[in-house]
Amino acid sequence: MPYLQTGRDKLKYLAAAVVVLAAVTGAALLFLNRAPEEYRREEYALGTIVRLSVWSKDEGQADAALANTAAAIARYESLFSANIASSDVSRANSAVGRDARVSAETAELMSKAIEIANMTGGAFDPAIGAVVKLWGIGTDRARVPADTEIAAALKEVNYKKIKTEHRGEKYLLSSGNGQKIDLGGIAKGYIADRLAELLRSEGIKSAIVDLGGNLEVVGSQPKGRPWRLGIQDPLKPRGEYFAVADVTDSSVVTSGPYERYFEKDGVRYHHIFDPSTGRPATSDLSSVTIIDRDSAMADALCTALFVMGRRRAEEFLRAHRELHSVLLTDDGKVYITGNLKEVLSLKDASKKMITIEGTER
Ligand code: AMP
Ligand code: MG
Repeated sequence: MPYLQTGRDKLKYLAAAVVVLAAVTGAALLFLNRAPEEYRREEYALGTIVRLSVWSKDEGQADAALANTAAAIARYESLFSANIASSDVSRANSAVGRDARVSAETAELMSKAIEIANMTGGAFDPAIGAVVKLWGIGTDRARVPADTEIAAALKEVNYKKIKTEHRGEKYLLSSGNGQKIDLGGIAKGYIADRLAELLRSEGIKSAIVDLGGNLEVVGSQPKGRPWRLGIQDPLKPRGEYFAVADVTDSSVVTSGPYERYFEKDGVRYHHIFDPSTGRPATSDLSSVTIIDRDSAMADALCTALFVMGRRRAEEFLRAHRELHSVLLTDDGKVYITGNLKEVLSLKDASKKMITIEGTER
């Protein structure tokens, strides 16, 4: 009679249930107590080496988060790159005098770029595309163009002609009459923000997204301490830092001529252009860093502050006291906003740290 339970049977079942329950609870406790492990993925994208690190107790969760992040990067690159003919940006650039239908993200990024162009008086100009293409810095077509060519390209640099519009479900982008949009100075920051958002939505509590000069962290280190992010020394190989910043849920973005350039007759021509001259900006800065939760803004602003040079950059920082910034000058001085005093530590004893006047707290 299989369905009749005796008292002994009941005891056996009870004992078995207790054993199973203990095993399950034990496994759960082990899982909870286990330290999160680092899972990495590295690939070439966005014209740079992208390094992703997530910490998780669950390999499946980490693998999915990394795969989804890599897929998102590829998608954003296919929308924002001026070098991909089918991208939103390229389609808007070729639709002279007409609107191009674009993704919501491209419209959002473009609006942000225009906002920062206004804020910086055009030192950041997302319509710099004609100049970028003419010089070809970072490509095998890099060359020093003739003055007449530069003058012709400069006529097409004016972010004020670029318009975005939201009509019902549609997002439209117009590059005016021949303006060439180039989002190379802001796209990585925007993408880093979206990736951090994605990782958080996947339940990841600790992560580092490294898109070349753009670093963004999710949360803090697994044990709760802030992340320590290095600021590249422009004169040393990649990965050697002159300062370190302690941050949580933030991004650290650095711009400098050392990132991409070519040399001709002993002169160095780099990839950050002065929109008022159409030539590589002649700046007395060797790099500009901005630390902010909004990586898109930080990205665009460090390009702009580099173009401005130290004096104008300092003025800008005095007028925008909420910003956290580090200006490294050609003569090795490190100018910081007052709000970074407890955040930043110098690694290079030969450098001097100076608080920018008017930004003390
Ligand atoms: P970043 O590395 O963030 O400083 O950005 C440099 C990239 O932004 C260049 O490779 C160009 O694609 C673009 N760019 C260069 N000069 C400017 C500028 N003045 N305003 C906006 N974008 C720029
Ligand atoms: Mg930038």
